[in-house]
Amino acid sequence: MDASSSDSKYHVVLFPFMSKGHTIPLLHLARLLLRRPNFIVTVFTTSGNHSFIANSLSDTTAFIIDLPFPQNVPQIPAGVESTDKLPSMSLFAPFALSTKLMQPDFEKAIETLPRVNFMVSDGFLWWTLDSAIKFGFPRLVSFGMSIYSSCLSKAVVEQRLLFGPESDDELITLPQFPWIKVTRNDFGSTFRDSEPSGPHFEFNIATITAAINSYGTIINSFYELEATFADYWNKENGNKTWFVGPLCLADAPRVEHEPRKKPTWIKWLDQKLEQGRSVLYVAFGSQADISAQQLKEIAIGLKKSKVNFLWVMRAKDPEYGDESELEEGIGDRGIILREWVDQREILIHQSVNGFLSHCGWNSVLESICAGVPILAWPMMAEQPLNARMVVEEIKVGLRVETCNGSVRGFVKWEGLKKMVKELMEGETGKQVRKNAEEYGEIAKKAMEEGSGSSWCNLDVLVDGLCNPRNT
Ligand code: UDP
Repeated sequence: MDASSSDSKYHVVLFPFMSKGHTIPLLHLARLLLRRPNFIVTVFTTSGNHSFIANSLSDTTAFIIDLPFPQNVPQIPAGVESTDKLPSMSLFAPFALSTKLMQPDFEKAIETLPRVNFMVSDGFLWWTLDSAIKFGFPRLVSFGMSIYSSCLSKAVVEQRLLFGPESDDELITLPQFPWIKVTRNDFGSTFRDSEPSGPHFEFNIATITAAINSYGTIINSFYELEATFADYWNKENGNKTWFVGPLCLADAPRVEHEPRKKPTWIKWLDQKLEQGRSVLYVAFGSQADISAQQLKEIAIGLKKSKVNFLWVMRAKDPEYGDESELEEGIGDRGIILREWVDQREILIHQSVNGFLSHCGWNSVLESICAGVPILAWPMMAEQPLNARMVVEEIKVGLRVETCNGSVRGFVKWEGLKKMVKELMEGETGKQVRKNAEEYGEIAKKAMEEGSGSSWCNLDVLVDGLCNPRNT
């Protein structure tokens, strides 16, 4: 069956950006839409990303259309079609800007599809707004960020707050939210430049302009988690946001119950549970660049903290040095993986009691949903703001100690060990664990079918777009 032969009434197009952290939540959104009667969903991607998406949606009726990824883009190695495959995140701007070359193929494909009721496309695919206007359907944007970090980013830009202090680490109070203090180091380079220019800046302007001119923004978060900021944003910008998450709760992670099909690391976690030991999960997302020196320090810190740990590195992370140095004295206490894992399956495992995380927004939400407290170690993008939210606002985590106290400072093993022990065994660790568990329960309620705040928000949004006369 293809989309054109379907009797379904409502057709939604989803177009995620080619990075795992941006794609995964929209695949969950596909599921949420398909749980409603009479919906068909078409997901656009590129051939290089097809198998990841097809695999994730294999038990659904979603259609997938592959577009060719632009070829011969200066600086982008052939065959790289997602940000986690980029040799360095410094190539993000040329990668993201090149997606515009897909527009003609995207529009050719749209012409062949049944009438589209609306599209949700990633904020980074700014050019999809022009296509939506051309074909006469509304575009919703997904940036994959919390509204907390959007509020803070907007506040510092509008009032040029980052250009007063002399040091990048000086605390700046936000007049709109006087209990919040940020530093210049909490923001990416285009924010810190008083006269920004260049491809990354142009890209930011294009994405923001297109977002403002779109129908609205879906937020992968739940109102109860950041009500103050949601209210502020809607008051300042008009009511154009819909809190429809945490999208990771759209379906349960695929937990294999057949013992022989269990991944080895889940069997290892089962063992830890039987032994009554709790485990620290360590992972820094799909794309952060981490130096060999820093990896080595993490290895020593984990070893000296004497906690049980499961550390997921990425294939492209550098070797951390002498592997035997790490393995010595650890025995069965820790395992290190270099493959793609089901992170949510790990986080909900009963033995996992802490998450040393880079604070990518998906990781933060997945941790909260599992009731697991976070040891925050932000690395790039809006992660330093997510870390502030985690530690200072909702208090579901602690922060690693950097050697110079700066948000972007190097983390030595001593600072890591101290905070790992505090999270896993200390009094403040206990408090943030309790908070994480409480927010986890609220998150589940928000996503409850028929009654949860996020479920109802998506209903209102979808109804307004598909049955305009009802609103
Ligand atoms: N993820 C996963 N397995 C891995 C690595 C990552 O399932 O081995 C998922 C993780 O659960 C999350 C996403 O990839 O949903 C990463 O998004 P996040 O916002 O946390 O970080 P990013 O990769 O965008 O920096």
